Amino acid sequence: MALAHANAHANEWNPSDSEQRGIWRNMTENVVSQERTHVDALIVGAGTAGLLAAHELLRRRPHTSLLLVEAGPSLAARLEQPPGGMSGLGGAGLYLGGRLYLGPATLPVLPPVSAPSTLRPILAGDAYQDRARAVDAHFIRLGARSAVRHAPDPRLAEAAARAAALGIEYILSYPTRPLTPEERRSVLARLHAELEQQGAHFAFGWRVVSAARGAAGFTVNLAAEDASGDARRIRTRALVLAPGRYGAEWLVRMAEALGAEVAQLPATFGVRLELPAAAYAPLTDLNPDPRLQMPLTDDAVIKTYATCPGGYVLPITRAGALVASGMPVTLEARRPSTTVAILAQPGVRGAEARWRGGEDLARRLNERVPGRLVVQRREDLRAGQATTAEALAAHSVRPTCAEAVPGALHDIYPAPYWAAFEALLTRIERLAPGVATGDALLYGPAEERFWHFPTSDQLETRIAGLFVAGDAAGQSQGTIQAGVAGTLAGEGVARHLG
Ligand SMILES: Cc1cc2nc3c(=O)[nH]c(=O)nc-3n(C[C@H](O)[C@H](O)[C@H](O)COP(=O)(O)OP(=O)(O)OC[C@H]3O[C@@H](n4cnc5c(N)ncnc54)[C@H](O)[C@@H]3O)c2cc1C
Repeated sequence: MALAHANAHANEWNPSDSEQRGIWRNMTENVVSQERTHVDALIVGAGTAGLLAAHELLRRRPHTSLLLVEAGPSLAARLEQPPGGMSGLGGAGLYLGGRLYLGPATLPVLPPVSAPSTLRPILAGDAYQDRARAVDAHFIRLGARSAVRHAPDPRLAEAAARAAALGIEYILSYPTRPLTPEERRSVLARLHAELEQQGAHFAFGWRVVSAARGAAGFTVNLAAEDASGDARRIRTRALVLAPGRYGAEWLVRMAEALGAEVAQLPATFGVRLELPAAAYAPLTDLNPDPRLQMPLTDDAVIKTYATCPGGYVLPITRAGALVASGMPVTLEARRPSTTVAILAQPGVRGAEARWRGGEDLARRLNERVPGRLVVQRREDLRAGQATTAEALAAHSVRPTCAEAVPGALHDIYPAPYWAAFEALLTRIERLAPGVATGDALLYGPAEERFWHFPTSDQLETRIAGLFVAGDAAGQSQGTIQAGVAGTLAGEGVARHLG
């Protein structure tokens, strides 16, 4: 309890503030010297899942000593930063997107057919909807005012109908409550204040780097995100890991190190396309991330993923491989090109048969061209020839990823990939002329991996007191869903603490 009541003004830890650093250091050292460096519960990540876990825990167990550790900034500091960061109070979607999808869903998200047998729905139907409505109602109490939209606006509905006529599913989630930026700020500011009033402490700008199991829970190691080199250690009886999509690989490492079960789902793989923003504008002007999906034979699909209008291609390391990712930018910062991934999801049967080779495509392409992405012009791909540096230099679409190496992608992917790629692009061409016929660059490899963490219905792993929640755990792909996951984890922690 020492932590929760140490200092009424120290609820928001900001290591760049030397006074607060001092308070944190003194408090922690005092607690260390008393051998009471512990809290009842520690939550990693103050995104939707972490915040709702905290809310639910304190609602059910009001005097719990609770620390939320968030690598990013507080709301006030976040508002002063350039827009676009995914980290800080509110995490990614609640701060940046703010569309609350209120339609039916399952928790965890079930990938089509390819789910391993251990992946079972924890919540579906009315049970899910009741929780989703409760999260929405909480946001309304905190300042969400916008009315629910039950259907897309006519232009978007028309685009979806035209896609359907071409054999493409345009994935739209309705009903939706779209929060304005002011509403998002209000929800986050009040949620933060409410949690503090209930005794929760926030450590902003601190990253949880590792944890170990002990006799009565976990020892958690924190490192300051600034240049101070500060590090802290804290013990907790219950640990909730909710680090979001970008923390998924860290979560896998943590969960495995702590002895929890982790299953990797079949990879989705493909290329990241870069094309003139004007060509894709008929779709991105209606919806910045149009999700188009086409069924293939067996249980396979090919789909667009993570469109970034006016954005750029960024190499990132995922599951040990260097892959092409897309970086979204604000409206004002948009560049002349749009980038979108075209990913194949082979499904369980497909991965073993026609699509064999997709699973380790990224590794093989990385071996061929170590440490760099490969970029190929679409016309060279069609001609079955590698792109040369001269051809790339003269190309009309300027590569946004300058360090990518011109070369060949066509000969390394499983053959069904290119057939599916052409089929999808030819159809999208009918919705956005110029997408398939115009100049485009392809970057490879592109890959998305998801993991599944078997848990109890309250998201407790097989390690007592260790909970996983939100997008990183593969449970959610949206704010409301992540909130539902958080409430389940909060309920589970309350039960665990007794
Ligand atoms: C640009 C963008 C817009 C989106 N818009 C919408 C939308 O409008 N509607 C919707 O439903 N969904 C949207 N989403 C999806 C939505 O963001 C996620 O489904 C949701 O945020 C998941 O919540 P979470 O709590 O699991 O993770 P996050 O919201 O990502 O929060 C995780 C937090 O954990 C912190 N963290 C990670 N690792 C550590 C660590 N080791 N130590 C300390 N802190 C750590 C991160 O800094 C982050 O703040 C959007 C996503 C993006 C990227």
